[in-house]
Amino acid sequence: MTDTTARTAQPVPPENGGRTAAVRADGVTKKYGLGENAVVALDDVTIGLPRGEFTAIMGPSGSGKSTLMHCLAGLDTVSAGRVFVGDDELTEMNDKQLTRLRRDRIGFIFQAFNLVPTLSALENILLPMSVAGRQPDAEWLDTVVDTTGLRNRLDHRPSQLSGGQQQRVACARSLVGRPDVIFADEPTGNLDSRSGGEVLELLRESVRGSGQTIVMVTHDPVAAGYTDHVVFLADGRLIDRLREPTPATVLERMKDLDTRVAAAVKGPRA
Ligand code: ADP
Repeated sequence: MTDTTARTAQPVPPENGGRTAAVRADGVTKKYGLGENAVVALDDVTIGLPRGEFTAIMGPSGSGKSTLMHCLAGLDTVSAGRVFVGDDELTEMNDKQLTRLRRDRIGFIFQAFNLVPTLSALENILLPMSVAGRQPDAEWLDTVVDTTGLRNRLDHRPSQLSGGQQQRVACARSLVGRPDVIFADEPTGNLDSRSGGEVLELLRESVRGSGQTIVMVTHDPVAAGYTDHVVFLADGRLIDRLREPTPATVLERMKDLDTRVAAAVKGPRA
């Protein structure tokens, strides 16, 4: 099969695989600071992340991964360009509309789990829905509890759970409201490889089995190997993408990108 992946450091056009994008950035630029001290964290990024897929965002430290995730999730404003969740434009929303969108349509999984220590696992799972005044679908809640393997841990508080179990509670919390998209920021960064593997397996299964859309920031080729699709950033630009990745092909692509970035920095010889 021909690899049509872009090989030059140009913006990569959106690739929706014929499906509507769950989330989309159109010419997004994000600058921090002003004038000479301004840092361009994202430089004209255009990307569509297809519904029902598991996507990894990768790139060296400082390449703009977190900034892209924050802009796509409505956690940060953009300097230019537009962001859409489904057909709704985030970049046109006021604070109240953004808060509601994040609460009702977006799920988050953080490296540090971010569970409420005084609540049980079940109460943590249900917290976003109770805040939103929504009732969970009992059958779906049952399915989520079973797939996350938490049936016997529902009364436990976070301090009584292992790291892997706590992250599975965070996964259940994000899955139970069936959000349009779940953003996971280095979700296995605090876990040993076995618990990390279980969490990634769970995320992959929720995409394959239930059509959930997940976008994960990671620097780990093994974690990226669980996804359908990897996009690579360098210096705030989208420079490459890889479908059906394996840890080996991700690693190979990362090395290749390092070489290209180093060559670009060095510039042509006089
Ligand atoms: P990554 O997640 O790939 O490590 P980030 O998105 O955190 O990269 O950062 C991209 C660039 O933007 C970096 O140069 C970083 O220093 C800069 N940056 C990120 N957040 C801020 C901020 N709040 N203020 C100033 N610069 C920032």
